[in-house]
Amino acid sequence: LEPAYQFMLRVLAPGGVASPEQYLVLDNLARLYGNDTLRLTTRQSFQLHGIVKWNLQETIREVNDALMTTRAACGDVNRNVMCNPNPYQSDIHTEVYGWTRAISNHLSPRTPAYHEIWINDEKVVDSLQGKLVEPIYGPAYLPRKFKIGMAVPPSNDIDVFSQDLGFIAIIEDGELKGFNVAVGGGMGMTHSDTTTYPQLSQVIGFCLPDQVIEVAEKTVLIQRDYGNRSVRKNARFKYTIDRYGYDWFISQLHDRLGWELDRARPYYFEHHGDRYGWVKGSNNQWHLTLFIMNGRIKDQEGYLLMTGLREIAKIHKGDFRLTGNQNLIITNVSSTDKGKVMRLVEKYGLSDGYQQSALRRNAMSCVSLPTCGLAMAEAERYLPALLEKIETVLDDAGLHEEEIVIRMTGCPNGCARPVLGEIAMIGKSPGKYNLYMGAGFAGERMSKLYRESLNEAEILGELTPIIHRYANERNPGEHFGDFVIRTGYVREVRSGLDFHD
Ligand code: SF4
Repeated sequence: LEPAYQFMLRVLAPGGVASPEQYLVLDNLARLYGNDTLRLTTRQSFQLHGIVKWNLQETIREVNDALMTTRAACGDVNRNVMCNPNPYQSDIHTEVYGWTRAISNHLSPRTPAYHEIWINDEKVVDSLQGKLVEPIYGPAYLPRKFKIGMAVPPSNDIDVFSQDLGFIAIIEDGELKGFNVAVGGGMGMTHSDTTTYPQLSQVIGFCLPDQVIEVAEKTVLIQRDYGNRSVRKNARFKYTIDRYGYDWFISQLHDRLGWELDRARPYYFEHHGDRYGWVKGSNNQWHLTLFIMNGRIKDQEGYLLMTGLREIAKIHKGDFRLTGNQNLIITNVSSTDKGKVMRLVEKYGLSDGYQQSALRRNAMSCVSLPTCGLAMAEAERYLPALLEKIETVLDDAGLHEEEIVIRMTGCPNGCARPVLGEIAMIGKSPGKYNLYMGAGFAGERMSKLYRESLNEAEILGELTPIIHRYANERNPGEHFGDFVIRTGYVREVRSGLDFHD
């Protein structure tokens, strides 16, 4: 007898895009083989949880039949390429999404082993007589996972500075002129090990749209050749950059490209959260952003979110887009179909989510317990209850509608990009969290450790007076993260290298 081992399947969705037909396949698989829920991730992909081992192959086959894949959604390769998720909002988004797909395809591993193992059991390698080579990854793949994202200012909803490699769209005179290139970001660290730290990327130059694939490929190759393969905790690209320096990296990149990046161009980010409700795009189609608490799509008593989205998918002719904040956009709804979608949204109460407090609308947590084997404390299952208590404090202070970005993870691996929350809690042990504060509202600065190993009462005890002082003493328009730095609660983190100082 074999134990019923359960697995998580992550389904790739470059730029977070899935058709209604694909969504229905995932919804069906979640109910057939999974735990009756779908999880939208912080990298705009789907997760199916609770797939028992003997159902894995069939589930992956059905994902493949729906023209989706789990290949390279995990592992030491380039992961799901992120993109600002509303391509139909303007022609610029459509173009940027096109480049997202192109990068994703270009950096996809070529190995046929995936198909051999999961899809059709045919030994493809035999027919190639051992001649298969991975043109980018080589025989040893990358030292560690690699993350790429494309942002379209003024929205930094993909947290471009947290990516190993980020592209920031530069728009002049209503046209996409190219991209600023940012390298060296990454969120993970290990508690009590100061050789590990979260880091934000730095902008190193500008390239034209048709140069992004080359820049992405050469950057990945530099990390493949120079990343630390001896110490896994220091294997991410941010450590390679910090070890060798930016000048070294830029010179390596230029050598490999055979041309040089241009000088970076001005850009401006306003926020890194989502904007909810209906918007009309430049193509005269409508888009509805729904708030999904922690990205978890499931039916609960009185809130049939999973059923509601399934019913919409059955009639929807546009597509579904996942945001980097684990929310969902129903895109490309014609004026004629808008009424039908709205009736279903109202019937299932799907707009209730974004009518909650501003804090909740800006909250995000990782999966953590019981699914994640690395978790040290609760996150997804606990954050809503904690938010309720912080909301009471905010209400008392008259800050119900104040947008404060709050994030929680069950360990310092950083899947929900916690240190980019103006208030961040990272699990230390069951019921205990490190509390960080001071991140920038647009994802351009990290939070700093404020107190260690706090339980719920201690978290509330620390935050309550700060929130009241913020209500009374903030400057006009001053965000919470800026306020706690100005008033001396925490020091500004300028680089991951001084994160632990
Ligand atoms: Fe990621 Fe850690 Fe959360 Fe697990 S507990 S999902 S590894 S941040």
